[in-house]
Amino acid sequence: MGGDGGSCYHEDLEWLGSQRSDEGENRYYRCKRCLGVIVITPKGEKVYYIPARKEG
Ligand SMILES: [Zn+2]
Repeated sequence: MGGDGGSCYHEDLEWLGSQRSDEGENRYYRCKRCLGVIVITPKGEKVYYIPARKEG
């Protein structure tokens, strides 16, 4: 079980908040397991994954 998110299904998400865009609101979640950030677009059609930064 590494922390790089390579084998993480991002099932345990923490709500971070939302940010307005031209089309609505982007929703931000953080995966409690790999600490990556999940971004869901207003229409829910696209999901972006931002890996957690490695300290040091
Ligand atoms: Zn994850």
